[in-house]
Amino acid sequence: MSSRKKFIAGNWKMNKTPADGVALVNDIVAAVGKQSDVDVVVCPPFTGLESAGKALDGSNVKLGAQNMHFEASGAFTGEVSAAMLRSIFATHVILGHSERRTLFGETDEVVNKKVLAALKNQLRPIFCIGETLAERESGATLKVVQTQVERGLDGVSKELATQIVVAYEPVWAIGTGKVATTEQAQEVHAFIRGLLVKLFGDAVAQKVRILYGGSMKPANAPELLAQKDIDGGLIGGASLEARSFVELVTAAAAIK
Ligand code: PEP
Repeated sequence: MSSRKKFIAGNWKMNKTPADGVALVNDIVAAVGKQSDVDVVVCPPFTGLESAGKALDGSNVKLGAQNMHFEASGAFTGEVSAAMLRSIFATHVILGHSERRTLFGETDEVVNKKVLAALKNQLRPIFCIGETLAERESGATLKVVQTQVERGLDGVSKELATQIVVAYEPVWAIGTGKVATTEQAQEVHAFIRGLLVKLFGDAVAQKVRILYGGSMKPANAPELLAQKDIDGGLIGGASLEARSFVELVTAAAAIK
């Protein structure tokens, strides 16, 4: 059994008006708001953050954003800073999601600046990495993941590294209904844990949660979550309905 607390985060992406988000949060809080065996985080779009934060206030469910800029302020039209997110009580921020990397051109260097800025502002990064289908098929998965981890976490201190949650998300499994096999996922998770040992030492690496993301659903979650190095899930589609999201939290809580 792992001493790491399981972690389930919902990435709503560009879905839900603020009112829809509050309704969803109310249902989640009613079902698992007192859950203390699992860290539960919801990540609405920017427009829904503040109202979702108010709806989850007083529960154990936490608030995360899906992106942020690395600068503190200035002429960055359309962007928000870490301090702005903290001011509305966000505790987490998804960084380097594959959609940000591919659709919005975020490089490892940009993601690294964001990770450092988030940590400086006491925001916990949910740091996303993962290979494309072409990279997997050409046998480059571990190399790609290694580069993303080493560049993305460059300059992070040992002291702050435990604040980071890593999300391994094979790009070919995101939103496609294709899920990595437990063996494929555990192999990469164990490899990432090994990279963290090299970067931060064993004691820190054993504390960092490594989530799986990519079509995780109540039906496939128990087997994935039972793997030694899979400490939770970053959930897209199945986080948009209370029922499936709550079932995933319950599945994580059932792993002892
Ligand atoms: C995601 O976008 O982080 C994700 C894992 O999406 P889905 O669960 O829909 O594959």
